[in-house]
Amino acid sequence: MTNTTTIPILDGHNDTLLQLHRAKSEGNRSFFAKSETGHIDLPRAREGGLGGGFFAIFTPNKEKKPGRMPGADPAGADTAYEVPLPLPLDQDYAQQFTIAVAADLFRLEAEAEGQVKVVRTASELATYLDQGIFAIIFHIEGAEAIDPDLDTLYVLYQAGLRSLGIVWSRPNAFGHGVPFKFPQSPDIGPGLTDAGRGLVRACNQLGILIDLSHLNEPGFWDVAKYSNAPLVATHSGVYNLCASARNLTDKQLDAIKDSEGIVGVNFHVGFLREDGRLEADTPLTEIVRHINYIVDRIGLDHVALGSDFDGATMPNELGDAAGLPRLMAALRDHGYDEAALRKIAYDNWLRVLQKTWK
Ligand SMILES: [Zn+2]
Repeated sequence: MTNTTTIPILDGHNDTLLQLHRAKSEGNRSFFAKSETGHIDLPRAREGGLGGGFFAIFTPNKEKKPGRMPGADPAGADTAYEVPLPLPLDQDYAQQFTIAVAADLFRLEAEAEGQVKVVRTASELATYLDQGIFAIIFHIEGAEAIDPDLDTLYVLYQAGLRSLGIVWSRPNAFGHGVPFKFPQSPDIGPGLTDAGRGLVRACNQLGILIDLSHLNEPGFWDVAKYSNAPLVATHSGVYNLCASARNLTDKQLDAIKDSEGIVGVNFHVGFLREDGRLEADTPLTEIVRHINYIVDRIGLDHVALGSDFDGATMPNELGDAAGLPRLMAALRDHGYDEAALRKIAYDNWLRVLQKTWK
């Protein structure tokens, strides 16, 4: 029987670039050295069968360093919570920060001497996964760095940008995100702005994947209406299983299916658990529960993984990228065969990216 670690995993979302950027001043974390800190480095990726993924560039607000991702406090008596949204970002600042982190990414690629590559086409991605070259998809989470004339978008595309989240959870010139609130429906706030609709058209023309993960529901329906690409939530869960605004309603899941799109299931415990608690002592099978729900409702072709490694609280049982074989084993225990595991691990992503990218 084939060993599960031979199935390469392409992951829908991580915040590793931000963590590496922050660690630069301390010099205590390298992508190439196995670390106890965070969730992804090349040795742990190799150990866990992680073949690559969407590497987000996220610009934090200047005023405070965000700590762990919100979820209901495990010590709190009440599971309901609301975290105030950070203020909108200044475009110049976001652009400067984005360029600095993108430069880190390209330096990392150069330093890797062929072991790590930024992918620009679906055929490159298939080849790298096959050959064991770690594949990085250049993603931006929240379009604050993009000017309304979209000049920055064209330049970043030429540099390798292939995936863009219109918003993170704070509002910007293009749309409105969902708050970190539990329980809370994603149906909150207005839809895309005129500039947001223009951004959708430009992404379609260029072949940039539009990530819906932090977008509110009115914005989601605007993208469903104006975009001609499959609908994709790179790192979200099922609202019916965990009533977080970051998760997808059944209606949204159905629309993703109709567009031949995909959901990368987020591993953040606060988006998995029925009680929304930020409790790392959460079984790995909570991830399987969300995958099963999506498979039952919209089919095996529309589910994948979207860990949120290096940006969220993982179930202890999983730990970090090196723990991915335990997730694959749990999926196998729940009846997924090799062909099904390949779809979830990378093949569904490949299909969607072949349709989305030029
Ligand atoms: Zn995110």
